[in-house]
Amino acid sequence: MTDFYDILGISKGATAAEIKKAYRKKAIEFHPDKNPGDATAEENFKKAAEAYETLSDPQKKARYDQLGHQAYTSGGAGGFGGGGFGGMDMDDIFSQFGDIFGGGGFSGFGGGGGFGGGGRRRVKGKDLRIRVSLTLEEAAVGVEKKVKVKRKKQAPGVTYKTCTTCGGSGQVTRIQNTILGRMQTSAPCNVCGGAGQTMDKKPAGADAQGLIIDEETVSIKIPAGVETDMRLKVSGKGNEAPGNGVSGDLLVDIEVKEHAELQREGNNLHYDLYVSVPEAVLGTTKEIQTVTGKVRIPIEAGIQSGKILRLRGKGMPSVNGYATGDLLVHVNVWTPRNLSRDQKEFFESMMADSHFEPAPEKGDKSFFEKVKDMFS
Ligand SMILES: [Zn+2]
Repeated sequence: MTDFYDILGISKGATAAEIKKAYRKKAIEFHPDKNPGDATAEENFKKAAEAYETLSDPQKKARYDQLGHQAYTSGGAGGFGGGGFGGMDMDDIFSQFGDIFGGGGFSGFGGGGGFGGGGRRRVKGKDLRIRVSLTLEEAAVGVEKKVKVKRKKQAPGVTYKTCTTCGGSGQVTRIQNTILGRMQTSAPCNVCGGAGQTMDKKPAGADAQGLIIDEETVSIKIPAGVETDMRLKVSGKGNEAPGNGVSGDLLVDIEVKEHAELQREGNNLHYDLYVSVPEAVLGTTKEIQTVTGKVRIPIEAGIQSGKILRLRGKGMPSVNGYATGDLLVHVNVWTPRNLSRDQKEFFESMMADSHFEPAPEKGDKSFFEKVKDMFS
């Protein structure tokens, strides 16, 4: 389990200055401008920001140390709303930078190395979230779903221009004389908010950023094997950003509906099969519902109630494509409740018959042995 200290690569006893220094290092390493299109870097960037958000605040830090990582990030405990990680968006993170990279005499950033854009914020549109539900059959083979999404987009006719205050750099730089000599400090431009651009022409109906809401049909490819509460990301289908910023993502929460006959347990499926007493005695074939259609299976003569038949590979595929589960058919022998006089007489005559005497053999495993087998 990685906790916030691991994420920043520091020990529990780290001082406030050490925490800040560690975060600054991570923020530079994983900054989106340095890692364009790298989703892992972006994830690390967000995680580092979340770790810093908590550990830099003495009250939050105390609460985090007390509760532990799991409880802190999953609960509403002062941290991020529900759901832990992913609660901070890029806007929140960049606004944190004023503190980290702004004042405090940190100079020379963006001149030589550092961020490609000289500290200019890469403005990203907000991520949008939707929930998509699908049947178990759809989840078994994968499906493409078309959903209508209301996204913010740049209004037709809107134009943006370079911010005149910061000249497009997004940063305002000042030279200060300190006891250490002349130091260059920079802070995000408060006219453009660090984006380096401001709106030039605002069409009617557009908001303060020049955006309008538009409904769009988005096609989502859902891979085989998904489960309820898995989340997919459709890059670039969240809100658009103003100017030359990048669009946010569309986050898709998956819901797989319950099936009337099949119960899912990981990649395995369970099916309850009922056979009559004569079918169990004489043997038969039975049609079984699977996620990819019906199959007919033989039922051997003398089958016992409670037997589990394993149909290999007829379960759900794993979402990473490495394996496919099985379909476990639970055999239930249906005992009739209402018999005619003749039928009753027949069974009465069998009462003393040794063929009807239960005599479980080694092969007829007990319920507990079967359960043990299933999970081994
Ligand atoms: Zn500006």
